[in-house]
Amino acid sequence: MDRSLLEQRYARVRAGLPPHVKLIAVSKTRSVEEIRALYDLGHRAFGENYPQELKEKQPQLPGDIEWHFIGNLQTNKVKYIAPFVHLVHTVDGTGLLDELQKRAERAGRELNVLVQVHIAEEETKHGLSPAEATELLHSWEAQRWSLVRPSGLMGMATNTPDMGQVRQEFNGLAALFHRLREEGRVDPTQFTELSMGMSGDSAVAIAAGSTMVRVGSAIFGER
Ligand SMILES: *Cc1c(COP(=O)(O)O)cnc(C)c1O
Repeated sequence: MDRSLLEQRYARVRAGLPPHVKLIAVSKTRSVEEIRALYDLGHRAFGENYPQELKEKQPQLPGDIEWHFIGNLQTNKVKYIAPFVHLVHTVDGTGLLDELQKRAERAGRELNVLVQVHIAEEETKHGLSPAEATELLHSWEAQRWSLVRPSGLMGMATNTPDMGQVRQEFNGLAALFHRLREEGRVDPTQFTELSMGMSGDSAVAIAAGSTMVRVGSAIFGER
């Protein structure tokens, strides 16, 4: 691992972010040593995609790291991350919410989550439609997820060089986010995060109103 290269890349990514945008360093497939090196530069928020991998890394790293779960989450894996995860970005259904509630009860803590919305063209990306996400959030109060807090929305744009299309997709998600907040069916003091933007499209996401970008390769190099 080249520490000075990591430091340069990290500084470059940071320099491109306005102060209100939170940087989640995506560390999937990266070693504990690489994560530790970024930690030593002062970074604290890391994102992981695989529950088992996160469960193995977490105890080997400092306890003040804020772990974000950003991958597809199967219900049978929630137990691996519920005791310590800071924010789950990828909630896309009631079955997963039931399991998050159950594991939050067992862990004796609340869990903050984002609802993932499908905004891309590709069928492979997960997430609810905007209508489904709206319905889920509108029914939240009447539901049984007292320990699971909706903190905002997450989305991934189509993987395309057409930044006009990417901009349109991010603008659509941002519009949904603001509409939900303004309608008063979510608590606007808690429903505050809009997680969108990765290494290739974070500038477009920020222009559209992102509050959290999830950046891996621009910091750690190509996977
Ligand atoms: C891997 C991943 C990222 C980071 O991707 P980079 O292109 O390496 O920045 C962001 N978000 C999600 C959901 C990911 O799976």
